[in-house]
Amino acid sequence: MTPEIFARLAPLPAKVKAVVVTDDYMVFTIFVSEYLCEESRRKALMHELRHIYEDHFTNEVIPLAQLEQLADQIEKRPPRLLPLDGLTESTI
Ligand SMILES: [Zn+2]
Repeated sequence: MTPEIFARLAPLPAKVKAVVVTDDYMVFTIFVSEYLCEESRRKALMHELRHIYEDHFTNEVIPLAQLEQLADQIEKRPPRLLPLDGLTESTI
């Protein structure tokens, strides 16, 4: 099943770069902090996308701290850049 992913900018609490909300039907909404600069928004978005594509949300075996490390390790691969234009209202 292909995940359906939405991304939005939101006024998140300080120090929270992004959060992902999901349901049981592979629908994910990534909220990226609107207070970040564009580069940080892009990094935060990529980090959360990797959690989704690496199946971290449905894998209950790996501890959360390790999942965070994995998402950051994967981040060291060459990035596949996504256009952030219209992030407030667009679907990826
Ligand atoms: Zn993470």
